[in-house]
Amino acid sequence: MTDDNQAAARPTVVVVGGGYGGITVAKALDDTSDVVLVEPKDAFMHNIAALRALVDPSWLPRIFLPYSGLLTKGRGVRDRAVTVEPHRVVTASGEEISADFVVLATGSRYPFPAKTDLVDTHRAQEEVRRTNRALAQADRVLLVGAGPVGIELAGEIRDVWPEKSIVLLDVADEILGGPYLPELKAELRRQLVEARVELILGSPLRQAPPTEPGELGTFTVSTEAGTEIVADIWFRCYGVVPNSDYLGGELASARRPDGFIEVGPTLQVAGQTTVFAVGDISTADNKMAGFARHQAATVADNVNALAQGRTDLAQYESMGVAIAVPIGATGGAGQFPGQDEIVGRETISEVKGRDMMVSQFGEAFGLPATSAR
Ligand SMILES: Cc1cc2nc3c(=O)[nH]c(=O)nc-3n(C[C@H](O)[C@H](O)[C@H](O)COP(=O)(O)OP(=O)(O)OC[C@H]3O[C@@H](n4cnc5c(N)ncnc54)[C@H](O)[C@@H]3O)c2cc1C
Repeated sequence: MTDDNQAAARPTVVVVGGGYGGITVAKALDDTSDVVLVEPKDAFMHNIAALRALVDPSWLPRIFLPYSGLLTKGRGVRDRAVTVEPHRVVTASGEEISADFVVLATGSRYPFPAKTDLVDTHRAQEEVRRTNRALAQADRVLLVGAGPVGIELAGEIRDVWPEKSIVLLDVADEILGGPYLPELKAELRRQLVEARVELILGSPLRQAPPTEPGELGTFTVSTEAGTEIVADIWFRCYGVVPNSDYLGGELASARRPDGFIEVGPTLQVAGQTTVFAVGDISTADNKMAGFARHQAATVADNVNALAQGRTDLAQYESMGVAIAVPIGATGGAGQFPGQDEIVGRETISEVKGRDMMVSQFGEAFGLPATSAR
């Protein structure tokens, strides 16, 4: 840590990545530290509502929230980190940033439109609008992957286009996957069938569709089991890939072969004291924004403790199993921590489906409250 008392009281904390975990830890430390947020995008993408914006692009302004409104004291560096070491972050343009603490929060990639790699809001929004126009013209939609994203996308499409044929396909023989109650899977399945979503489960596609995901163009594919599917557009609804290829020097050994970063109970990166990791890149918990934000609170407390010379660090406690899967604005089901019973469509609509959590994130960026569909 730097030498004078004032600097010791206000350490420099470099937060790498401004997703759900990164913005939460950066904001929590803004008063007590000199925060530097390294992020290549010009706006936070609230990807929880991305599928709603795909079917209804009027939501786009509410899901891209400019980073300029996030921090009052700290600063943003609009660039990608290419090398991160315990006390040094180097960006793609060659800027070197010294750090007392580093928080790794670079999350994961996921196929468009759920997430995007585009770093410019205008271009990202244009891409969503282009895909919306293609989807609007398609009569038959194939969704590959019946996890939460595939289920949610089926519901969003059905809400806006009652007449389209929607096929939801998965190699597994049940929907949703994960450590969830069988009653939850059964309820979501019941609602999908009620919404006239055709489920084709238990067999992979023989070949990938010939078109790019989100591109208009009629094709025929078949499953290994022999079911033939004709569709005009398809979307890939699987494939979380951690963004962790920038770890340099002694940090590289904390990167597991699958790309996730090993952390201990205090969320310090394995073998490190001043480097933390939160969110989808960390091995701490399931890959969810709610968990990333919960971890961010623990990390902020622990950075403050270390900066004050304390060693009694907080240990991260998982909230337990939690998921909210909307099927359109008014359907869906979920499971909340510590509850033996699933929650139904009214609760899911209230906590997620109706406003897709946009209001709580808008507030963090200093934006006025917005109305929901
Ligand atoms: C459609 C959909 C719906 C979802 N719904 C829910 C939900 O209802 N509830 C829930 O809890 N979770 C939900 N999730 C999961 C949730 O979105 C993720 O768990 C969450 O995005 C993880 O947050 P994160 O902060 O770890 O990383 P991310 O949100 O992935 O953010 C990472 C950030 O790091 C930046 N970055 C990447 N590489 C670098 C680099 N080298 N240098 C600097 N910056 C970099 C990226 O640009 C990005 O801004 C949903 C996911 C999807 C796809």
